[in-house]
Amino acid sequence: MEKREQMYEGKAKKVFATDDPALCIVSYKDDATAFNGKKKGTIEGKGVVNNKMSNYLMSEMEKAGIPTHFVKELSDRETVVKKVDIVPLEVIIRNTAAGSFSKRFGVAEGTKLLRPTLEFCYKCDELDDPMCNEYHIVACGWATQEEIDEITKLTFRINEFLCAFFAKVNVDLIDFKIEFGKTQDGTIILADEISPDTCRFWDATTHEKLDKDRFRRDLGHVEDAYQEMMRRIFGE
Ligand code: ADP
Ligand code: UDP
Repeated sequence: MEKREQMYEGKAKKVFATDDPALCIVSYKDDATAFNGKKKGTIEGKGVVNNKMSNYLMSEMEKAGIPTHFVKELSDRETVVKKVDIVPLEVIIRNTAAGSFSKRFGVAEGTKLLRPTLEFCYKCDELDDPMCNEYHIVACGWATQEEIDEITKLTFRINEFLCAFFAKVNVDLIDFKIEFGKTQDGTIILADEISPDTCRFWDATTHEKLDKDRFRRDLGHVEDAYQEMMRRIFGE
């Protein structure tokens, strides 16, 4: 397989075409943004952590029967994935109140929710990714009801998988964002990434933040947090 032209450069990754129209290569950068690009910076080594963590989680999910875009890790920063048409939704699961949920509903950060909560946001930088419901999604043609049902089912399974996985390394999965895509034949699979950029990870004992909130909120030790998550998953 051969790497071809760059198709897209996002805030955290570049996407390249390959000589196989069903595959592309993602390349993870150290660039960090927050508040929809208003805050910019670099987190040394982040691209490597996010690439490796995401690949490991997705390959384990595949074993558990959850379909993902993961194909093959090429290097520390580059991975072959199945090329999909991204469903333009940010799918968020919250197990514990934090971030915009706490702000919107006045529920203190750290309050365990009585059940995992699902949110959809329309993926559109110009509009600041507005929150939306299933009616909005079908009405605007972003996905069909059948696709939403499949995404919902997979998302709760992914949450169960991830909560159990991170519990083993003494990490509470507070919330996370995932994206789905459609393959040529219309199958919905997990795409994009699962990393400290897209999840809130708190140490289960000390509640120390081990994710991108350290960057968003200028808490310091940002790189250390990414490396600590790497150590918990892969060991020294
Ligand atoms: P953003 O676009 O939000 O700045 P990134 O820098 O992470 O985000 O860019 C990666 C882009 O690639 C995102 O738009 C994401 O939806 C898209 N993407 C992720 N996985 C795939 C895939 N398997 N096929 C095609 N596009 C993908
Ligand atoms: N998230 C993300 N990308 C976004 C928005 C949110 O990965 O564009 C993740 C974020 O890391 C957190 C979860 O989704 O794990 C919920 O984020 P929230 O809505 O609280 O927004 P934030 O506080 O990050 O603005």
